[in-house]
Amino acid sequence: MWEVPNFIKYVKLLVLASVLAGVFSGLRGSVFTVVGGRVNVRLRIQLMDSLLSQDIGFFDTTKTGDITSRLSSDTTLVGDQVTLNVNVFLRSLVQAFGVLLCMFLISWQLSILAFISVPLITILSKWYGNYVRSLTKLMQKKLADGNSVSEAAFGSMPTVRSFDAAEAELKEFEQHMGKYLALNKRSAVAYCGYAAFTTAVPQLVFAVVVFYGGMLVRNNDISIGDLVKFLLYLQALSDAFSSIGYIFSSLTQAVGAADKVFELLHRTPRYRESSAQREAPRGEIQFENVDLYYPARPQRQVLNKLSLKVEPGSIIALVGQSGGGKSSVMSLIQHLYEQSGGRVLLDGQDVHEISPECLSRTISIVSQEPTLFARSIKRNIMYGLEGTDMEPTHEEIVEAARLANAESFIETLPQKYDTEVGERGVQLSGGQRQRLAIARALVRKPKVLLLDEATSALDAESEHLVQSAIDDMLARGKNEKGEGAMTVLIVAHRLSTVRNADTIFVIQNGQVVEEGNHGQLLENPTGAYSSLIRRQMQAQEKLDIAK
Ligand code: ADP
Repeated sequence: MWEVPNFIKYVKLLVLASVLAGVFSGLRGSVFTVVGGRVNVRLRIQLMDSLLSQDIGFFDTTKTGDITSRLSSDTTLVGDQVTLNVNVFLRSLVQAFGVLLCMFLISWQLSILAFISVPLITILSKWYGNYVRSLTKLMQKKLADGNSVSEAAFGSMPTVRSFDAAEAELKEFEQHMGKYLALNKRSAVAYCGYAAFTTAVPQLVFAVVVFYGGMLVRNNDISIGDLVKFLLYLQALSDAFSSIGYIFSSLTQAVGAADKVFELLHRTPRYRESSAQREAPRGEIQFENVDLYYPARPQRQVLNKLSLKVEPGSIIALVGQSGGGKSSVMSLIQHLYEQSGGRVLLDGQDVHEISPECLSRTISIVSQEPTLFARSIKRNIMYGLEGTDMEPTHEEIVEAARLANAESFIETLPQKYDTEVGERGVQLSGGQRQRLAIARALVRKPKVLLLDEATSALDAESEHLVQSAIDDMLARGKNEKGEGAMTVLIVAHRLSTVRNADTIFVIQNGQVVEEGNHGQLLENPTGAYSSLIRRQMQAQEKLDIAK
């Protein structure tokens, strides 16, 4: 029998143990919360970094919803599992080892008996883990498909509303969610089987241990007190195991999500990057037998041994029927895609060897439908330069806006240069967006300006304003000829622009079929350029008659 003071000693120990358990469990929880948060953030940042450096072909062939799911739900899943489960997992593991040691000290025979279920459960867990992992991947995919639908819809709400397509969009969304639910059911059934087995088997083992333990007590091999202790330990061990089993299944889900995250994290962009230093750029461009197939449509040859040479400081017009490959030439100059044959040279240097940073500082583009960002006008104009050594001053921004014919409308806005433009610039008109895009290109003082002369989508007034900004730019280009002049490449639709170009390249079916200035090209009345001009004039006449 224990003495009373002895008993008090144990109670004191118990109190101490409870306090320590409380303190350490709190500490463990908070450490893991911090770790989980960090894992989540670090994964997101690394993933964002990796995504931003992928080639444009990757984005042509990957759904945006997939990418954002990777970045949001998958990284959260991984982060949360780390916080919650690794925490409980480690606790249960330590608990299991401690309890195990005590059990062996009491009776090794009983301990071995208690362990007969372990190999069974291990094998089952491994199988179940693999199954859940592949199922999770599929489920995440379905969620991502749903995201793609919702993002596309929210990104184009005016179209959805105008075509009364809300219900159709919802149906499509529901379809993906339905597939997710079906997979979710399969996962629930698998969990049911796994949990039933892993719960029942240890209980059965418990019964066997009670039986064998009773025999040992009857034979006086162990005391009844030891048997009770052993059974209590066994219960604690089975608690630890069942939480390890549960965590194992959630962790395998996290591993499924992590697999997808790491797949992207380790995906190397197709284009090689180099940061070779360049001398002051002159703005000479050369294409040597360039072939191009787009990753999204690898069977269709878009450029076919295309060659052209652009002198520094000249004004070049690319003309030809739609789909001929003019915009593709522009994309290759910026190294947005990888050509499959030939070379694209800027100032005699392969664009492969020029760092993206250097390229973007040399070349600016105004595309047909320029994308603005949900920021202020000022920040849109200095897009990409903010916080760098090239950040423009307010005066430079105003000057660029003036050159782009944008100053007048900016001055009428309530907060002038600090006015927010809304998502993708929706709060501005097409013409205003276009002029901001011109200002954004000009503020960089590029050596090469790429211009997709897209005035067709604009109303007459805006078209006039945009066109006169372009004309001014070209006129300045002409006046500044020689050292320091800007090379301008225009995908031209208007005769007035084409006529003013130093050299016109007629591009058809991915090849340059004619080259020269307006006068030279017209000398061949049966040539591609002459027939293009004839067609344009006829169209104009028809328009005039219609008026
Ligand atoms: P243009 O500017 O002369 O109208 P483009 O260079 O835009 O011609 O297009 C040439 C061809 O390449 C077209 O058939 C077009 O469908 C295809 N194309 C353009 N961009 C892509 C892309 N990102 N992915 C797949 N095909 C593309």
